[in-house]
Amino acid sequence: METKEAPSTIRLRGIRKLYQIGGETLAALDGIDLDIRRGEFAALMGPSGSGKSTLMNILGCLDRPSSGSYRLDGVEVAGLSDDALAATRNKKIGFVFQNFNLLPRISALENVALPLVYAGIRKRERVQRAAEMLAAVGLSDRGQHLPSELSGGQRQRVAIARALVNDPHIIMADEPTGNLDTKSTKEIMDIFETMHEKGHTIILVTHEPEIALRASRQLLVRDGKITRDEGKGVVMDVSSWR
Ligand code: ADP
Repeated sequence: METKEAPSTIRLRGIRKLYQIGGETLAALDGIDLDIRRGEFAALMGPSGSGKSTLMNILGCLDRPSSGSYRLDGVEVAGLSDDALAATRNKKIGFVFQNFNLLPRISALENVALPLVYAGIRKRERVQRAAEMLAAVGLSDRGQHLPSELSGGQRQRVAIARALVNDPHIIMADEPTGNLDTKSTKEIMDIFETMHEKGHTIILVTHEPEIALRASRQLLVRDGKITRDEGKGVVMDVSSWR
């Protein structure tokens, strides 16, 4: 029987990003073709300067390519206006960063609820949904703490709760465990795995092979191109991919 694959949630064709530096043109991305299906968990690896951040910024609708096509859930987004791009981003994508990017003067609960303020949700529902998300990452008892009163691993769990509170179906994480110890790293990766099991599409940048191998697909970026695309159950050695 033919198996029906999930449709591409992300479809890039011929994506280029050019920068003009001192009269020279630098191709930070030099022709990227990529399909990521709904529910995939993909790790992006590659040496510093290879184009990972540039690619994540385009995938995350934070920036536009110089040329090429980016279809997100079937809609061409490469040429959208800033406002339309922001609206798409807020609806579909949650972000997790290496440095957590929490606001320091508001509580964990308020940090998680922040995207709902921007989405125009009223307060009572904001608090309820933020509390549910904190519970989902095991931090029910830390809602009133400031970020400075939490450990690194707890801060990243708050950041994940914030990324999920709008119920986006795609999560983009840039070195999410880069500042964490081994135990917290495992906790955070367990949460990503649970999100993957629940059907979220996850794209994660990492330098660490053991993190990349917890994803179901591994992509290698070099010189603005995707030069390796592995995974789906294949055991392999990605230790040289950094
Ligand atoms: P990575 O995330 O893999 O370290 P980046 O995507 O940050 O790589 O950078 C890819 C290339 O594009 C690098 O050569 C970098 O210097 C260049 N680059 C990135 N952003 C800019 C920019 N705003 N202006 C000029 N060059 C840039």
